[in-house]
Amino acid sequence: MSNKKSKSGRSRSGAAQPSQSRQERQQRYREAAARDRTRTTGEPTQEATTVADRQFLDVGVVRVQSYLTRSGSDLRGFRGASVRLSEATSEQFWTERLPDGAHWNKEAGDVDGVVSLELRPDAEPDAVAAEVASVLRAELPAAGITAVHGTGASYIEAYREMVDRRDRGELIVDSPAPIRHVVLAKPCDRCMSWPAVGLIAATSDNPTVDNTREGCIDCRRRYIDGTKGDADSWRPRAEGVLRKDLAAHNEAPCPGFPDDFEELGNGDHIALVYADGNRIGDFVTQAQRKGVPKSDIAVGITHGTRKALAAAASEVLTAAGTNSKGKVPVLPHLIGGDDVHISVPAAQAWRFVAALLGGFPDSVKRQFDKPLPAPTISAGVIFFHHTTPFVDVVDAAARELRRAKTSGLGQTSSVSFLDLVADGFDPPAERICPRSEDLTRWQPGLTELVVGTATSHRALLLDLLRRNKFEEAEDRMRAADTRALFQQLEDQGLSVRNQLDIARWWPTT
Ligand SMILES: [Zn+2]
Repeated sequence: MSNKKSKSGRSRSGAAQPSQSRQERQQRYREAAARDRTRTTGEPTQEATTVADRQFLDVGVVRVQSYLTRSGSDLRGFRGASVRLSEATSEQFWTERLPDGAHWNKEAGDVDGVVSLELRPDAEPDAVAAEVASVLRAELPAAGITAVHGTGASYIEAYREMVDRRDRGELIVDSPAPIRHVVLAKPCDRCMSWPAVGLIAATSDNPTVDNTREGCIDCRRRYIDGTKGDADSWRPRAEGVLRKDLAAHNEAPCPGFPDDFEELGNGDHIALVYADGNRIGDFVTQAQRKGVPKSDIAVGITHGTRKALAAAASEVLTAAGTNSKGKVPVLPHLIGGDDVHISVPAAQAWRFVAALLGGFPDSVKRQFDKPLPAPTISAGVIFFHHTTPFVDVVDAAARELRRAKTSGLGQTSSVSFLDLVADGFDPPAERICPRSEDLTRWQPGLTELVVGTATSHRALLLDLLRRNKFEEAEDRMRAADTRALFQQLEDQGLSVRNQLDIARWWPTT
């Protein structure tokens, strides 16, 4: 949920009326300060019953996905940027840098890319926001940075107000990534847009980086500072999180994750899974109504998501085993609130997604001791070859996630998938978005189909269906004696075309 704030890089239309909202804000702060004084003098007043209003400020990176993939196609730049992003927005980093009148907001949970602060009633949010943004700008030179503030008895309450303000463009800082219009110097070998300022150089303690290319200030930071030292120290925060959660889930040490996509896929295809809880705002409202302490809600959602993720990764580990280097064959990129970006070998993707979609609702619900409806989750899955530019994969995953959410009306756990090799960038018109319960229902039939038909037979049928040669496809099924296998899934509502598309990466065991 809390990651939403980093996604909604809204328009800057609010710039037309900053003076008015600033006056309003200052008026409110004066009132809040007055209430605070009343409270300390112990005089009960009408206002004293509402002094609970606290002030929160979120300063964060917008369009995190595009920032992470800014340096182009490879995983190392993405990971380096992910490390830099986590570090620059971590509580630890800010402990000694907090502006006057601000402290770390623990109610927000840890979210990569967002500095969430609570302010003293007399603090001036504009000044605090400007100070925080300038530090972030130095740390993440090419990131878009915005700040929004809100008031409420708790962060969750203020968060609602903050979301509305973002939607209306009422940002108190809106600093898009600087554009370098004319590159007279040699452009950066990575992002190709900013001037190169030096080698993305190898140092003696950092032999893993590229010393043949020149980078701009942002790319150099992600390649050098973000990938410094041994491989374990430059792994994104998400890897540390999943490593810990997997160890707890399996009650055994987790040996860590592959170094890159090639190792992850063992030379074969990979799947990026981008999952996000549905209507988490509604869930928060219901939890509030049932009396869940407000400070516990965001934390509970985060923990529930992490547990479901660990359980799904554990299923992959159980089925596939560790890879040739003894690593768990999954690669988490981002985990924040109910947001998950993770890559798995293509042949494990359906298993992973079925487990995540199936496990998430109860996993989150179990974090709360009040009777709450179980929230649902949607996922976009992209099957790709490790040589595909990662920026394209990430964009495609976001589109498929939206498709899944639209298809399930935000009410059911469902998944939309795209195979960049077989489908290109557009799914076929008849492509469905399976729901969690569909995957469970179709599981036996799909497994029988994959085991009972040759890959070449399925490829032939797919080719015929793509060319609308339906009768010939029927003849081929009958000739190969596979019609009954397809029929049983058709009887369960899954068309032959969709069966073939899903079967392509369906696990055989
Ligand atoms: Zn660059």
